[in-house]
Amino acid sequence: MNEVRRILKSVFGYSSFKANQKEVINAILAGRDLFAAMPTGGGKSLCYQIPALLFDGLTVVVSPLIALMKDQVDAALSLGIPAAFLNSSQSQEDATETYRRLYRGEIKLLYLSPERLAVDGFTERLAAFNVSLFAVDEAHCLSEWGHDFRPDYLALAQLRTAFPTVPIAAFTATATVRVQEDIIRLLRLEDPFILRASFNRKELFYQVLPKTEVLSQIAQYIGAHPDQSGIVYRLSRKDTDKTVDYLGKLGIRALPYHAGMDKDERARNQERFNNDDVQVIVATTAFGMGIDKNNIRYVIHGDLPKSMEGYYQETGRAGRDGLESQCILFFGTADIARLNYFIRQIEDPAEQRRSRENLDRMARFASVNVCRRKQILEYFNETFEGNCGSCDVCTGTTNEIDAGTDARKLLSA
Ligand code: ADP
Ligand code: MG
Repeated sequence: MNEVRRILKSVFGYSSFKANQKEVINAILAGRDLFAAMPTGGGKSLCYQIPALLFDGLTVVVSPLIALMKDQVDAALSLGIPAAFLNSSQSQEDATETYRRLYRGEIKLLYLSPERLAVDGFTERLAAFNVSLFAVDEAHCLSEWGHDFRPDYLALAQLRTAFPTVPIAAFTATATVRVQEDIIRLLRLEDPFILRASFNRKELFYQVLPKTEVLSQIAQYIGAHPDQSGIVYRLSRKDTDKTVDYLGKLGIRALPYHAGMDKDERARNQERFNNDDVQVIVATTAFGMGIDKNNIRYVIHGDLPKSMEGYYQETGRAGRDGLESQCILFFGTADIARLNYFIRQIEDPAEQRRSRENLDRMARFASVNVCRRKQILEYFNETFEGNCGSCDVCTGTTNEIDAGTDARKLLSA
């Protein structure tokens, strides 16, 4: 048994790799730069954690989820991996203690927020340690084509200059080629090993339904599935609150999640949803990254999402346990007009163009009678042939939406 397999078993307790993990780990161990696009739940963490244990020096993991960093470190510690983090949320004492352990060479895995990296003089400080590998998690945050662009992430561009000989491994669940190209260019990856996993989520059933009385449509679905946990996405904060009220009046336990709420309340609602205290969370797209709930049986979109990328990521939160789950999109042409209205307000022409293209693609997805799975995978440059057996089009259960002509008219407006 080789060293990698031994660690997989002895440290993580797994006897086999998930798809693509072995190839990724081998490329990293061979000292190559790497770009890996693997779906959520694909097991990306292990791909840098195993090399971290095998390399002499320190592995630095850049992650945007400050709120989750402590959990990630605790999880690593519980496996016996010497890990620590540095970010703006910790006390000065905690940071000092982490530095002390770093100087003593006691840490193998250091989680870092991008804004920490951007602090003046920080990379010089980091250079005092023997860094073996940089792992950039959620690397799509570098790209404006990603669904979660973070200007902070641009600070990562300096890694290659400051550490010209240290390999960089970028991980993301965003698979568009445009995002991939942005990441490779901005991180200045050199002849990277590129891994693009399949983004097909076989367990998800995709369905588009005509949007009429959307509140009652949402309530009907939830009411018919009283033992199941689900997410309802709404475009605006107002509609999010309205939906929660509506469901509440029908006795359905639902909580809101959007950026207009204070941080603590948001965290509390997420926690209660994770613990199955409530059946449903109604959210704007602010809800998402870092959800770690595997028994979500349905994701309902009450409004047309702004992009295929967002739609894929949001629906992808269902069925992480591999059991069949429903993705329901309520679609009416009024949503196209509404999103178009927002797009017209965007001042930056490049951003406006991107948004328009995203909407165009999304509206087409919802309006044409083509296998939903095929359309999603094509968006990610993956081909899919034949009957998927798991969408409204392939199962012949499409509900006619009067969108066909209207949608096209609106799009070209
Ligand atoms: P990602 O970051 O790609 O979304 P994670 O790294 O969080 O995925 O892993 C998802 C889940 O899969 C975790 O619970 C992890 O422990 C588990 N996992 C990772 N690798 C394996 C494996 N080889 N066998 C079984 N489970 C695994
Ligand atoms: Mg991850």
